[in-house]
Amino acid sequence: MTHHRIVIIGGGNAGLSVAGRLHRHGVDDVVVIEPREQHRFQPLFSHAAGGVARASMAVRPQASVMPKGVGWIQEAVADLDPEDATVILASGRRITYDQLIVCPGMQLDWDRVPGLTAALGTPEVASHYEFELVPKASRLLRDLRRGTAVFTQPPGPAKCAGASQKPMYLACDYWRATGVLSDIRVVMIVPDPTVFGIPEIDRQLERKIAEYGIELRSGTELRSVDGEHRTAEIGPVAGGASERLQYDVLNVVPPQSAPDWLKSTSLPAAGDSGGFVEVDPETLRHVRYDDVWALGDAAATRNSKSGGALRKQTKVVAENVLAVLEGKEPTARYDGYTVCPSTVSRSTVVFAEFDDQYRLKPTIPFWKSLSRERRLSWLFDRHILPWVYWHMILKGRA
Ligand SMILES: Cc1cc2nc3c(=O)[nH]c(=O)nc-3n(C[C@H](O)[C@H](O)[C@H](O)COP(=O)(O)OP(=O)(O)OC[C@H]3O[C@@H](n4cnc5c(N)ncnc54)[C@H](O)[C@@H]3O)c2cc1C
Repeated sequence: MTHHRIVIIGGGNAGLSVAGRLHRHGVDDVVVIEPREQHRFQPLFSHAAGGVARASMAVRPQASVMPKGVGWIQEAVADLDPEDATVILASGRRITYDQLIVCPGMQLDWDRVPGLTAALGTPEVASHYEFELVPKASRLLRDLRRGTAVFTQPPGPAKCAGASQKPMYLACDYWRATGVLSDIRVVMIVPDPTVFGIPEIDRQLERKIAEYGIELRSGTELRSVDGEHRTAEIGPVAGGASERLQYDVLNVVPPQSAPDWLKSTSLPAAGDSGGFVEVDPETLRHVRYDDVWALGDAAATRNSKSGGALRKQTKVVAENVLAVLEGKEPTARYDGYTVCPSTVSRSTVVFAEFDDQYRLKPTIPFWKSLSRERRLSWLFDRHILPWVYWHMILKGRA
């Protein structure tokens, strides 16, 4: 049994940013529990699948990105006992804490789509949501010359749901430049009634969809995959008859939820099948355990989940935990801000910043049209943001 003042579960985007912030503010006993050897910057997966970055650019050794002065326990958490302020590791080791910050991200639920797990082993199916499959997605999209390419976005909570569409636009731009776009039927399956859900952003994306000749199937989900016969069964999310699509390339983004081990703890609300940690969506403090906090993809907040949302959430959690350590009330509030940069070509991005009511919420308030298709947003998303991520965000400085 060991004790730490602050224990953070998950050394991804959220965990390292908040650890770095707390350490910089003088908290001297912060440990991060993270089993992985490699840290992954997931937004670059989309660029790599779309052929405008190398997959290797999205990973760095975890040891090289740990904020200085923060401890690292390289193990997985298997269970929690919040009544006893204890974390139980996969090895059986127990760690106690003064304050616990829970941010282990989301898991990809491949098995929720019948046939999908088996189909991933066939030559035509890939996903840019799984690092190991990103090079395959990139190769398939690059080499396609004719036939049908199907892209899917799942219903329910997802990591930056709009990122499901990014490799599709990048591939269409590439196919157009190489003169084969007119020989490829491109089908995009999205669960919502419109392509994005905010009228201003829908208009931008619909223009690109028309330009590339993409067949948009809104209100639709992937129901099953038959990898052997290269067939995807799709149908309305609301229920109704299925349709079978023959594909030459299928890029799937699977349904997602909180990690299974987290679902079986007492941290989610009763009846939350997603298993997300039940926090106050503004203070990010657990509603039943005062010494537990959650942020990022694993927290039951109302916003659309994204790394951009963490820019605000990490500040709120750090400020509130610091206040509690000093015996004060936590007063910082998360405002629901999130972001989804859609790479609509190999040189432009539609940069959607919005709140948990799906209203536009630009960082620069007087520049409302920042969300239009722009080269400047591409420069930021593809070239500036990765540098900021490795050098500032993970250190809790941005
Ligand atoms: C393909 C793709 C594209 C994306 N594009 C964008 C984008 O353009 N813009 C944007 O803002 N966001 C984007 N996102 C979303 C963004 O990456 C996530 O919202 C962000 O990483 C969430 O941070 P997190 O720390 O909550 O989770 P993660 O960064 O996923 O980190 C979770 C960490 O917890 C660890 N963990 C898991 N289980 C355990 C355990 N049992 N014990 C200990 N540790 C554990 C994991 O190993 C992992 O390191 C994208 C995501 C994907 C997959």
